[in-house]
Amino acid sequence: MSTYPTVTASEVSPAGLDDAAMTQAARRVVDEVRSAQANWAELPVNARAARLAAAGDAMLAHAEALAALVVEETGKPLAEAYSSEVVGVADLFAYWCKHGPRHLQPRHGLVPSLEMPGKKARIERAPRGVVAVIAPWNYPVAIPMRSIVPALLAGNGVVLKPSEITPRSGAWLVEQLRASLGPIVGLCAGDGRAGASLVAAEPDLVIFTGSTATGRKVATAAAALGIPCDCELGGKDCAIVRADADVERAAAGIAWGIVTNAGQNCAGIERVAVDRAVADRFIPALVSRLEAAAADVPELVTPRQKAIVVAQVRDALGRGGQALCGGVPEGDAKIAPTLLTGVPRDAAAWRDESFGPIAVLTVGDGDEQLIEAANDSAYGLGASVWSRDIDGAVELGRRVRTGMLWVNNHAFTGALPDLPWTGWGASGTGITSSPEALEHMTRPRLVVVDKQSGIEPWWYPYGDRMVDLMRAVVRKQREGGLGALLATLKSLKQRERELAAGAVRR
Ligand code: NAD
Repeated sequence: MSTYPTVTASEVSPAGLDDAAMTQAARRVVDEVRSAQANWAELPVNARAARLAAAGDAMLAHAEALAALVVEETGKPLAEAYSSEVVGVADLFAYWCKHGPRHLQPRHGLVPSLEMPGKKARIERAPRGVVAVIAPWNYPVAIPMRSIVPALLAGNGVVLKPSEITPRSGAWLVEQLRASLGPIVGLCAGDGRAGASLVAAEPDLVIFTGSTATGRKVATAAAALGIPCDCELGGKDCAIVRADADVERAAAGIAWGIVTNAGQNCAGIERVAVDRAVADRFIPALVSRLEAAAADVPELVTPRQKAIVVAQVRDALGRGGQALCGGVPEGDAKIAPTLLTGVPRDAAAWRDESFGPIAVLTVGDGDEQLIEAANDSAYGLGASVWSRDIDGAVELGRRVRTGMLWVNNHAFTGALPDLPWTGWGASGTGITSSPEALEHMTRPRLVVVDKQSGIEPWWYPYGDRMVDLMRAVVRKQREGGLGALLATLKSLKQRERELAAGAVRR
C-alpha cells in the first residue's frame, strides 16, 4: 500500500515569496532536472523505455491509492477515477514503451548522389531538454501523464506544475516517478504565480493545458523568452444529430458527453444541433437520459466554477431560454444536468465555455443549418456527427472547424495514446498524445557525414565548373534526362584530375 505524499495544499502554496524569489526557486528545480537530463538523454531509447516500463509498473502497483486520491481531490466517482485516469496511465506506459522507440528512430535524408556523391544524411530526434508541464485540475493524473511519459521517453526531463486545486495528485505522480527514475522529474507546486515562475525559469518547452485566457498569457510569456509553448485550451464542442441518426444511441452518447466528469471536460458537449426531422423523438430521449444521470453527476470541483455555470443558466433563462431539464439549482443543491433551448447565440451559454453539466440545444432544417450552428464558435476542439450514413457524416463533419471529429461517439479517445488530442482556433495549438506530439517534444538534429575526397565543385574559386554543374542540375530537374548531368560531372572529374596533376590552373 502506498502512502500519500506529505504535501498539502497550504505547504505547496508559496505565499509570502515575491516573484523574484519564486523564479529563483523554480530555477533550482529546473536546474536540478536539467543536470540529470543530460545523462538520461545519453541512454539508448530502448533503455529509457525499459526504465519507464518499470516506473509504470511501480506506480500502478499503487493504483488503488491513486484512484482514491483522485476521488478525494476532485470528487469524481471511483468508476471515473479508474476509467479516465488510472486505466489511461496504464495504457500510456504500455503504448509508449512498446511503440515509442520506433517513432523516435532517426530517418535517412535524401542527398542527390550524382552531384553530391559520398554524403549521407540522418535526421535524429534530439530531446528539447527540460519540459515544463503545466496542468489543469479536471483530469489531474491523465492530462499531465499523457505528456510526461512521451517527453521522458524522448530523452527530456520534466518539471510538473500541477493545478493548485489538485496539488496532491501531482505531487504523488512526481514522487512516484522520482523514486523509480531519479531527479529527471521535478515538481513546481503552487498557484498561477508558481506556473508563471516556472516559465520564467526558462525551461526548453512549455506544455500548457488549461483555459484559453491563461494559455494566451503563458504563451506570451514563453514567446518573450523564445521558448516554444504548446497550448491545449478550452472547448465548446457541438454534437450534430442528423435526420437519419439512431436516436437512442445518439441520446445516450450525447447525454454522457454532456455530464461526464460533471461537464468539467474540455471536450464536453456544450452545444447540440439537431435536425428538425428527428427533433421530436431525439429531444425527449436526451432529456430522459440526462435526468437518469443526475444521481451519478457529482458537485463541481470549485465554487467558482459552479458560480460561472449557474450565471450562464440564469442569463440564458432571463433572455428567453427554456430549461428542458435541470435549471438554476435551489440553495446549495448541486447543478443537475441541464438542457437549454431558445437561447440567443450571443448569450454566454452559447458563446463561452461552460465547464459544467449543461448544454444548449438548437434545431436546424437540414445539414447546412446544422453545420452553420456547429461552426458558430471561436473554439475548435471536437465535434461529433450522429448519423446512420457514415460516409456522409464524415464528409459533413470535415466541414466543422475542429481538431477532432467523432462519428456516432464523442471524446472517448482522450486517453488513447496513439491518437492525437488537438484543437483549432481558441482551443489552442497543442498536440498531446500520438506520434505527432513527438514533433513538439523533440528537435530534429541533422547529421551529415561526407566520405568524399578532393574539392567540391561549389567551393572557391567558382570558375565555369560551378556554373556548368548548376545548369546541368536545372536541366535535369526540368527535363528529367540524366545525360547532360552525367556528361558535366564527367568533365568536372576530368578537370579535377588535371588540376591535381598540375596540368591546368584554376
Ligand atoms: P487554468 O487556466 O485556470 O489553469 C491551468 C494551469 O495553469 C493551473 O496549473 C494554473 O495554476 C496555471 N496557471 C494559472 N495562471 C498561470 C500563469 N500566469 N502562468 C503559468 N501558469 C498559470 O485552467 P483550469 O481551471 O485548471 O482548467 C480548466 C480549463 O482547462 C478549461 O478551460 C478546460 O477546457 C481546459 N482544458 C483543456 C484541455 C485540452 O486538452 N484542450 C484539457 C483539460 C482542460
